Amino acid sequence: MSEENRALLIFTRDLRVNDNPALAAAAKETDAVIPAFILDEDLLKGSCASPNRLSYLLESLEDLDDELREKGSALVVREGNFAEQAMRLAQRWKAKTIYMSEDRSPYANRRQQRLAQACQEQRIELKMRGGPWVIKPGQLTPTGGDHYKVFGPYWKAWKATPITPPAKAPRSLRSPAGLPATRLPSLRSLTNDPPALKRKPGGERQARGRLSKWLKGPIDEYGSTHDDLPGAATSHLSADLHFGCLSASEVRARAEGRSEDFVRQLCWRDFHHQVLAARPDLPHADYRPRGDRWRRDTRSSEAWRQGLTGYPIVDAGMRQLLAEGYMHNRARLVVGSFLTKTLYLDWRLGAAHFASLLADADVANNVGNWQWIAGTGNDTRPNRVLNPLRQAKRFDPDGTYVRRYVGELAAIDGRAVHEPWRLPARERRALGYPAPLVDHQAAAHELRARRSGR
Ligand code: FAD
Repeated sequence: MSEENRALLIFTRDLRVNDNPALAAAAKETDAVIPAFILDEDLLKGSCASPNRLSYLLESLEDLDDELREKGSALVVREGNFAEQAMRLAQRWKAKTIYMSEDRSPYANRRQQRLAQACQEQRIELKMRGGPWVIKPGQLTPTGGDHYKVFGPYWKAWKATPITPPAKAPRSLRSPAGLPATRLPSLRSLTNDPPALKRKPGGERQARGRLSKWLKGPIDEYGSTHDDLPGAATSHLSADLHFGCLSASEVRARAEGRSEDFVRQLCWRDFHHQVLAARPDLPHADYRPRGDRWRRDTRSSEAWRQGLTGYPIVDAGMRQLLAEGYMHNRARLVVGSFLTKTLYLDWRLGAAHFASLLADADVANNVGNWQWIAGTGNDTRPNRVLNPLRQAKRFDPDGTYVRRYVGELAAIDGRAVHEPWRLPARERRALGYPAPLVDHQAAAHELRARRSGR
């Protein structure tokens, strides 16, 4: 009898059974599959190990294990050096092939190279299938360049690329007998800090529930409601997409023809991925240096982090982040502009704070957007400064968003909540809310002067 052709399937940022090219290929091309997840010791040390992300990850792994069990298999979980653990598993289960989804962040590149090297030494075939994007970085390139630097032309090319219909999950999965019981570490063994109280739960089934609800109706209003801060009428799928509990390609396919504005946001995701793939120094170095000599001011940076800048709309956004491990995109723009252009503090400081709290924190989209808002990235208008008061009046017209997150201001009715400094001195003092940290208008003026070299 010929020997069984077994494959090790290593899940990374593709924690799902639906529309998963690596899983589908392993199931189709081999006799038996050993599904595994490796808690990578290197990632357990860095900002990836934030409580919000770790709790989302553990919930997703638990859910994935349940789903695999329903299909006759299970998830083997290991912790340690990624390539070493992969080799140990492949040898233990006599796997001839490893299937894995691809990623193009600087760390993922190094990890994949180490794995490829180890596979070569052990004569194991490594097959990379799929990735966290709709269109792989490098697949679309402008004439004479290795990546798109401006979003508009990328969007045009991206939109014209045919949609891949999503693949259903395999009905069943053949795995060798005797897979060990799945043992997930507790959150407390990985981090001392608790996750945000109001964080959305992780896992493919939760994510598919959110997607179905989104497609049942709200998506049709996205074009007119996506900037409405109190309405929170966006999809809230970012963490699901980051961890691959949803396939970006499936979300695109199912959203097509419903809301071009929403599909365009998915394209932004791919845009930043292709910039990062071409410029792996993006997390540290300015994409387009503007000669900035950022201020150092611990008092201001700490006030920004804690949501105590004295600008209610900024503070509401920062406190949403602390409470939920999430922030509305419009608020991310406002607080990002405030940090880099009003306070003139380094975008890296903002990106690091976001990475430590956002459940959806993603190196490409986090640093790509931070550089965009700081004017060192792909924004074609790098010196635009968002005026917090104007943004507040436009996107939170009666102050509901601010009152929801800034408890000290909850008793102020209507849009007056955006300007507590206008209240009579006694009332103002009674609030226990800080005075504005800086004068925004003067700061914006100074930024323009700095950037124009005066
Ligand atoms: P929706 O509005 O419903 O959009 C649908 C999906 O499109 C999102 O889930 C997301 O995957 C993608 N998307 C939307 N806007 C963007 C964008 N500007 N860039 C890239 N993808 C986008 N998004 C992250 O996923 N991870 C991050 O670490 C991240 N950091 C950011 C930092 C800053 C300073 C800014 C301004 C934006 C950042 N974003 C990041 C983008 C955006 O704010 C979030 O994706 C969005 O708010 C998530 O909410 P949603 O799922 O309801 O989005």
